[in-house]
Parts: sequence; structure tokens; C-alpha cells
Amino acid sequence: MKIRILEILKSTPDWVSGETLRRAMGVSRTAVWKHIRTLREEGYNIEARPNLGYRLLQAPDAPLPGEVITGLSTAFIGRRLEYVPELSSTNELATRLARDGCPAGTVVVTETQTGGKGRLGRAWFSPRDKGLWFTVVLRPPVNPAETPQLTMVAAVAVATAVRDHTGVPADIKWPNDILVRERKLCGILVELNAEMDRVNFMVAGMGLNVNVARREFPPEIRSAATSLLAESGEYIPRVPLFRALLKSFEDWYCLWLDQGFAPILRRWRELCITLDCPVTVHTLRESYSGYAVDVDDTGALLVRTASGRIERLLAGEVSLRKS
Ligand code: ATP
Repeated sequence: MKIRILEILKSTPDWVSGETLRRAMGVSRTAVWKHIRTLREEGYNIEARPNLGYRLLQAPDAPLPGEVITGLSTAFIGRRLEYVPELSSTNELATRLARDGCPAGTVVVTETQTGGKGRLGRAWFSPRDKGLWFTVVLRPPVNPAETPQLTMVAAVAVATAVRDHTGVPADIKWPNDILVRERKLCGILVELNAEMDRVNFMVAGMGLNVNVARREFPPEIRSAATSLLAESGEYIPRVPLFRALLKSFEDWYCLWLDQGFAPILRRWRELCITLDCPVTVHTLRESYSGYAVDVDDTGALLVRTASGRIERLLAGEVSLRKS
């Protein structure tokens, strides 16, 4: 209903009378007014004048369904968009929705996370209105053993969309980070819900720093983090960027399901900066130096150690540094 009112306001540059809206929606004038009030609370600048009606002056640059869905060119990702101004974590709500049977492609997006998570339970900084903090629910018809590939699908999709949409040279760091000039721009956290032989659902969470100024990052991550604003020197409108990310994600996801992992891995290798180079590996027990040789079909990193042995590293267990 609210979205329909918005569509009418957007398609009319001039005043729209309360009566026109009331008739178009088949509701009372009070109901129209309530929706207008909610839209204003969401950041829409709507002028109201007695005898003239309503006029939309400006829409907010926020990933609201009324902004994102118009002009979204995906078939299913983001077609259902749950926007919640503040959340503990988008992966958490997406998991709940997925358990309750929401359709594949449902997206949860928020303005700020109070309990955003990275890998290994680390905290993810998600300042209000400054990023794209979102999660996509998927139900891929693949074997549970193949599911680590989805992190790589997501990484390729984000890095490609960022490059195409903003020109910022985004790279991939194994397994789940998007970096620009070796600073972290985006983190990806894919979680799996499966039986032994069947995937129930997966949630792919992404936290992309968009308009975070360098000084706004907490001191402990300031030198290791970056944003599109910091890299490009320009404010980046989030709505068109979000649409581009969802479209890229859908394209790469469908390619994965249609043609398998090979085309994903090919692009991933082109974008990855932690391959064919010396690395330091940190596990819970030890740290050692080695050479990152390749990744295998499960997304595990193959590292040659000083003694010449090849270690197969799983994403959930280690941290990696370029050395
Ligand atoms: P490692 O770099 O050790 O491999 P990781 O990159 O896999 O770890 P994640 O668990 O994915 O780390 O992300 C959490 C870490 O990212 C935090 O510990 C913090 O250092 C950093 N971080 C948290 N919020 C942000 C942010 N908004 N932008 C960039 N980095 C962040």
C-alpha cells in the first residue's frame, strides 16, 4: 500500500490530491495520511498542503523496498526485500525467515547492526546509514560438500559489481574478504543449514563499507579498513549500488548453478590477491609461513610449507596474511 502511494507520488511531479490517493488505494483519507507519515519517518521529504494534496520533494538514499525494487533488474534476488532500520545481525533475521520458509532470493537489509559478525565470531562494525549491510537467503540444489563455493560466488559478485559500478579496484582475499589496496572494503559471511545429503538453505551476508569516512572507523581497524568513499573520494549513492550488487550476485549465482564451479573459479583467480604469493597462516594452535599455490574445488586454500608439504586450509579455521 505504502509502495503504491510512493509510485503514484513518483510518477507525478506535481501535487497529488488526497482524494486521488484515497480513491486509487480504496482507503480512507486518514489511512492515506498515516502512510504518508510513515514514508516521512523513513526519510521521504513529502510536502503536504491543504487544498493541493501531497508532493514528493526528495526520496532518501536508503535501501528501502520502495527505492530498490523500482529499477531492480533481477528475477528473484531482492524481489522480497525486508528492510529493518536496526538489527542485531542481518544473517540472524535471514536465518529466521528461511526457517519459516521464505522464498529463495529474499534479502534482509538494515541501516546498522548492533551484533554484526565476521568469521570465527568476530565483530563486524556497521555504522548507521553508511554501508550496505545485507543478507541473501538461498536454497541451492547442490550437495552440502559444494556449499563453500558460495562464499567464492559472493566474493566474485561483489568485487565485480564494485569494479563495474564505481571503478574502485576491488580484489579478493581468500576466503571471504574484498580488499582495495590491501584494506578491507567488504566482509562476507555465508552460513549453511543442511542435512547430511541435502541443503535446507544458506544465508549469504555481506557488509560493504560505502560512505564511511576513514576517521569514522574505530581506531583498532582504521589502518586495515576502507570504504568506497575513502577510495574514490566521492559520496556513493547506495540505492543504485545495491541494485548492481544484487544483480551481479544473481548473475554469478545462476552461472554457478548452470555451469558449475569452473567459471566462478576462473574469475575468482583473476581477482584474488592471495594466490601465487608468500603468505603467513595463523591457526588457533600455530603460525607458519608458506606459499599460496591454488584453491581446490571445495574452496580450500592449498599452501606449500617450507618443508614442501601441501597444506589444505579450510576457511572456517585459519587467518591468512600476505607476507
Ligand atoms: P582475517 O583478516 O584474520 O582473515 P577475516 O578477514 O576473515 O580475518 P572476518 O572475521 O571476516 O575477518 O571479519 C572480522 C574482522 O574484520 C574484525 O575482527 C575486524 O578486524 C575487521 N572489521 C570489522 N568490521 C569491519 C568493517 N566494517 N570494515 C573492515 N573491517 C572490519
